[in-house]
Amino acid sequence: MNFQLTKNEQEFIESFRTFCKKEIAPFAEQADRNKEIPRSHFEKLAQAGYLGLLHEEEYGGQGAGIFLSTLAMEVVSEYCGSTFFSVGASAGLFGLPLKHFGTTDQKRKYLPDIISGKKIGSLGITEPDSGSDVSAVSSRARRTSKGKYLLSGQKTYITNAPVADYCLVLARVQDEIGQEKGLTHFIVDLHSKGVTRSASMDKMGLRGSPTGALFLEEVEVTEEDILGKLGKGFRQTMQTFNAERLSLSSYSLGVMKACLEESKNFSSTRKSFGKSIFQHQGVAFLLAEMYAKLEASKWFTYSVAWEMEESDSQGKGNMNLSGRCAACKLFATTSAREVTNLAVQIHGGAGFMDEYKVSRLYRDVRLGEIGGGTSEIQKLIISNSIMKE
Ligand SMILES: Cc1cc2nc3c(=O)[nH]c(=O)nc-3n(C[C@H](O)[C@H](O)[C@H](O)COP(=O)(O)OP(=O)(O)OC[C@H]3O[C@@H](n4cnc5c(N)ncnc54)[C@H](O)[C@@H]3O)c2cc1C
Repeated sequence: MNFQLTKNEQEFIESFRTFCKKEIAPFAEQADRNKEIPRSHFEKLAQAGYLGLLHEEEYGGQGAGIFLSTLAMEVVSEYCGSTFFSVGASAGLFGLPLKHFGTTDQKRKYLPDIISGKKIGSLGITEPDSGSDVSAVSSRARRTSKGKYLLSGQKTYITNAPVADYCLVLARVQDEIGQEKGLTHFIVDLHSKGVTRSASMDKMGLRGSPTGALFLEEVEVTEEDILGKLGKGFRQTMQTFNAERLSLSSYSLGVMKACLEESKNFSSTRKSFGKSIFQHQGVAFLLAEMYAKLEASKWFTYSVAWEMEESDSQGKGNMNLSGRCAACKLFATTSAREVTNLAVQIHGGAGFMDEYKVSRLYRDVRLGEIGGGTSEIQKLIISNSIMKE
């Protein structure tokens, strides 16, 4: 494995960190309180080269590798989790399946506006009665005449749903005589007739990232709106989830790094019994535990990022890495939850107060063990994968 960055890549990450400190970090607390990140974050992150990192240059992207993108995701997450999730749902969860499975016409139509941050995308898999069990999706696309479908159903807990322009909707296709044709992704313009959406849902954390429900009532879509092949939606979703699991591992690294920084600073200035609290061995041990969890998660995440980049560049996709992505996500998100807990503990009463960053990180990080497949589902994937080896 080679984790060496080129000079250009190093410079990009350094300047991107400076950008995030200046343009993203100062708005994180306000976004949490106002329950929305500034809309301008999309365009600013596009200009900084972040939105297009993994996208092809002909659509406005940077054509960078998965490893560099993993490092950049870690940086954004260190400063604002809500920004990471909303922007990631647009350029990643919506944009990357288009990159991998879309036709040239579909890429030309959607990707430039997504990569430039002019439009917002989302991914609609989860429904009120189907979350972990993706195969139970019940939204339906009924074929009415040659090349036309009517799409009906409900999606819930969808990142960006209240504000998005597009959603990649997973639905069960039926032909004219009611025969099942399998799960299929449709690119849906959310301004179409028949689409309504809920208001932004109140959440425990990541409050700046709007989450909502989508209601689809006989929304007209055509053959041109099908992403990839008819009936291949389940496999496409699993491939998308593998990438999402790696990105949630990067998010966890950013959170842990922020927790460690905040805790080092706080424990150096806060005094009890006549000395800085880090001089009490009990507190120093907590810092040591945080550091060990961060380092172990970091090298696991980097190795999976490297493997995914290699596999991708050899045209093998990422399905061969499902077990690795699940294990990495399980380990990093669990560690991140434990680290935020330790950070709050080190801060004492202050850690419980909204004005301290660790309080927000503690609430935000809980999604890591739920979104993109719960920890229990990751364990199923890991055990299936190791038993097959
Ligand atoms: C803030 C937020 C943003 C989200 N964004 C999106 C998005 O953009 N797009 C999208 O499609 N979805 C999104 N989701 C949905 C998310 O992916 C699901 O919540 C998640 O996959 C779990 O599904 P569920 O909530 O239906 O839980 P359930 O599937 O009902 O699970 C409930 C519990 O049962 C356990 N369980 C279920 N099945 C098994 C099993 N076989 N073995 C062991 N345990 C099991 C689970 O681990 C969990 O503990 C988001 C969710 C949140 C909270």
